[in-house]
Amino acid sequence: MPAAPSPRPGAASPDARRPAADPWKVDLRELGRRAGSMRDWKKTIPAPERWGIELIGVPEGAPVELHLRLESVMEGVLVSGEVDAPVTGQCARCLEPLSDTLHLHVQELYAYAGSTTEATSEEDEVRRIEGERLDLAPLVRDTVVLTLPLAPTCTPDCAGLCVDCGERLDDLPADHSHEVIDPRWAGLAARLADQTDSAEGSQPGSTRTNPEEN
Ligand SMILES: [Zn+2]
Ligand SMILES: [Zn+2]
Repeated sequence: MPAAPSPRPGAASPDARRPAADPWKVDLRELGRRAGSMRDWKKTIPAPERWGIELIGVPEGAPVELHLRLESVMEGVLVSGEVDAPVTGQCARCLEPLSDTLHLHVQELYAYAGSTTEATSEEDEVRRIEGERLDLAPLVRDTVVLTLPLAPTCTPDCAGLCVDCGERLDDLPADHSHEVIDPRWAGLAARLADQTDSAEGSQPGSTRTNPEEN
């Protein structure tokens, strides 16, 4: 760990900044502006809020592992590397809770204020360096959200729920089925069943084979 550089004339003292320290904001003073200088940046930091979409996301406070390289280039700082983020959610087919780890690759240029890149880009087209800091959270959040599946599943071939009883099909025997009677005939079927109970005989078997009816 190199010694902290002495504060520049007129800059706020390092101590004054410390209380608000956000672990997602990388202090660039150690990197320097000389093009080509590099720094490996490995840290595990908690997600500052839930990053996700409806059914799945990185929970707030979950440990996000960052294995990044910061490289000083002419226009700013190039951030590249790998991010591992735990995700939790709900299966879109059977609604069971699920958890997984997202493995992401990121590569992004953060532009210096006053650089050509900054001057020629729209406000939302390029990430910017704020003072001496680079905020990794929006980059990781955007990458996470774009990577998450809209319809996550607990297993790749989850069969979902039985439309009749709502049970998870993967938990039921393979021959699970319900004998469904058209609702328009349900009343008639019930009357026929009653008649059959009192007078055994000329009944088509269908309504009698299912003991769950009645
Ligand atoms: Zn499922
Ligand atoms: Zn069922």
